[in-house]
Amino acid sequence: MRVLPLERGFTYGPVLSRRLGRSLGINILPLERKVCSFNCVYCHYGVTPGATLTPAAEDFPGVGPVLKAVELALRAYPEVESLTFSGNGEPTLHPYFHELVFGVRQLRDRLAPHAQVTLFSNATALHLPQVQAALPWVDVPIMKLDAGDPATFARINRPARGVTFEAVFAHLQALPNCFLQSVLIDGPVTNARGDPLEAWIAAVAEIRPRQVQIYSTDYPVAEESVERVPPFQLRRIAEEVSRRTGLDVRPFWVNP
Ligand code: SF4
Repeated sequence: MRVLPLERGFTYGPVLSRRLGRSLGINILPLERKVCSFNCVYCHYGVTPGATLTPAAEDFPGVGPVLKAVELALRAYPEVESLTFSGNGEPTLHPYFHELVFGVRQLRDRLAPHAQVTLFSNATALHLPQVQAALPWVDVPIMKLDAGDPATFARINRPARGVTFEAVFAHLQALPNCFLQSVLIDGPVTNARGDPLEAWIAAVAEIRPRQVQIYSTDYPVAEESVERVPPFQLRRIAEEVSRRTGLDVRPFWVNP
């Protein structure tokens, strides 16, 4: 099964997103390889070559070229509704993440004041100073949480050395008003039933995010043994979690 190609530029799209509207992707990761602190079994960019929390700073694009690309894209597409940090891995690993968020926000204020600044993150670097400084400037922080226990976390996210479930969970608990995004999968590794699902529900209930967004795999993934959780089951899980926790839980899928 072929995974999706990496993004080839510092911006991509705009794409029409069910959650975000017209979203301009901002890729502040290297263009030639994925850089991430996770190696998720379901990643649609394939396997992470050497998952790390401390990638070499010189591998990342500079602040100036990224902001120039965002400015050009905003002049071409002033109607975008979200400026979305995502792309070829984990955006918060960029050594100048704070400067990038601040710069994008200034461009947004000038060229697309109606748009929101959105961040997709796996929440492994929330303790870093450049990330803590940036978070107040992000309008929509969407944080990944696929597991509620260390064993499932290790099996699904396959984190870099030094990244623990306990630390990620503690950072999410301390983050006010975030959105949680969870990918539910089945097969030899699952978080969609049994004890792993119960542990995830308990973790979500403790974090109490502004909203929980659940997905499964709509694209080719890193490991062929991963099985998709069908939309009817996502809907059923969302209803159950919502009923038990009182949280706003939304199921999403691309292909019915
Ligand atoms: S956190 Fe995202 S980019 Fe990193 S391995 Fe997981 S799915 Fe892929």
